[in-house]
Amino acid sequence: MNRNNCLVVFSGGQDSTTCLFWAKKNFEKVFAICFDYGQKHVAEIEQAKKIAESADVPLRIMQIPFINQLSHNSLTDFSMTMDTEKPINALPNTFVAGRNLFFISIAAVYAREIDVKNIVTGVSQTDFSGYPDCRDSFIRSLNVTLNLAMDEEFVIHTPLMWLDKAQTWQLADTLGVLEIVRNQSLTCYNGIVGDGCGHCPACKLRKAGLEKYLLELKIKN
Ligand code: ZN
Repeated sequence: MNRNNCLVVFSGGQDSTTCLFWAKKNFEKVFAICFDYGQKHVAEIEQAKKIAESADVPLRIMQIPFINQLSHNSLTDFSMTMDTEKPINALPNTFVAGRNLFFISIAAVYAREIDVKNIVTGVSQTDFSGYPDCRDSFIRSLNVTLNLAMDEEFVIHTPLMWLDKAQTWQLADTLGVLEIVRNQSLTCYNGIVGDGCGHCPACKLRKAGLEKYLLELKIKN
């Protein structure tokens, strides 16, 4: 297995775009995999294609419509209104049960096919939503499971695990790609590239993080 190659689980959003460039800095050869699971903001796949192409990263797009048939959530159900805040003692309805379990497992099978050992994902435990499949304990557990399942030595890298949104912007800046991430990634639930619609939960979170980072930068200089 080539230890200098990696596969990035890539969606074209802020976090995974930052991870894509983090991977380019840390590995000789970078591959990416993107999942089409019937999400509302399908424009993000188009954006993922553009970013991967301009970054010279081969991108594999996998159709996994079964997620949509299994999980009832506001990212794929067009009739549901998205939770804008985390409900008390519950997960927001933007939670897609099993999503990262499937994404990373499928990514590992693909990584094995292309002789790649390192898998990079932009999950973050500090994410406000509190998704259980973004936690460090889950990723470590899945890493062990995947190695046992395929008798492999995969290493799952999570460069954003302990970063908040402002620190993720800082990482993009350190990597010299702040403008690329800001202008080309798509996080907005209304499918608007870059700074987005400005009022959906994803835009608010992204904007607050960017403003915090730019303010810190201003104070420092
Ligand atoms: Zn938005």
